[in-house]
Amino acid sequence: LEGVDVALIVVGSTEQHGPQNPLGTDHLVAAAVSREVGDRTGVAVFPTIPIGVSSNHAQFPGSIYVSPETLRDYVVEVAMSAASHGFAKFVIMNGHGGNTNALMDAAAILRRDFELFACVVLAMPSLGEGDGHAGKMETSLNLHYHGHLVHMERAVDVTQKTKLGSLTMTGVGRIGPAQFPMDVIDVSDLGIMGKPGTTIKATEASAKVASDALKPFVDSLVAFVEELKKADAEELLCKPHK
Ligand SMILES: [Zn+2]
Repeated sequence: LEGVDVALIVVGSTEQHGPQNPLGTDHLVAAAVSREVGDRTGVAVFPTIPIGVSSNHAQFPGSIYVSPETLRDYVVEVAMSAASHGFAKFVIMNGHGGNTNALMDAAAILRRDFELFACVVLAMPSLGEGDGHAGKMETSLNLHYHGHLVHMERAVDVTQKTKLGSLTMTGVGRIGPAQFPMDVIDVSDLGIMGKPGTTIKATEASAKVASDALKPFVDSLVAFVEELKKADAEELLCKPHK
C-alpha cells in the first residue's frame, strides 16, 4: 500500500455452464486471470466473490444467485472497507456478463458518493457473437486453467433457437427492435446461450484456443493496470459542480 493503491475485486457467478463445464466457470476463470494480472503488476487481488446475478439460469440445477441490488451493495461495502486501509482505485474483475449492470452501479456509487475510483473489466476473452455462454471460449478457458473440471465427452455443438412463441428473437435478449429479459432456456435446452440462429461450437474447445486468446488479453489488462497505478487518484474522481 505504500507504493500501490490499486486493488482487483474479483467477482463471478455460480451457474450452470452446459453439460461439460463446472458451475464455477465464471468465478474460477476470473480469479485465474486476476492472479496473472496481480502477479505481473503487484496490485492486490482480493478473495473472489463467487455468487452473482444469474436468475436467467434459474431453470437449471446448480444455479445459485443473488439480486443485482445485493451484489451492488456487497461490492460497494467491500471497496469502502478496503479504502479505510488506503486503497483508492479499484478494478472490478468480472467473470459474468449478467453482473455488469450491478457492478457499473456499484462503481458509480463509489465514485459519486464515496470519492473512490472503480471501473469494471470483463475478466475473460471472448470470440464475439459466434460464441456464447458455455461455448467454445469458456470451455477452452476451463481446459486451460483447470482441465480436470471439464467433461469434454459431454460437449456438443448447439444451434440456438430463434422463436419465443410466435415471435422471432433477433439477438441475445432481443425480439425485433425490443429488448426483453431473456432466460438461457429460451434459446437452449442444454443451457448454452448465444445469438439466436447461431451454432455454438463447444466441441472445438481446446486449451490452445484459450492460451492464444489469453496472451494479448492479459497483456492489455496489465498495461491498463500499470497506467492506473501511476494515475493520480484525485484526478479520477467526479468533477465538482460548476
Ligand atoms: Zn460463464
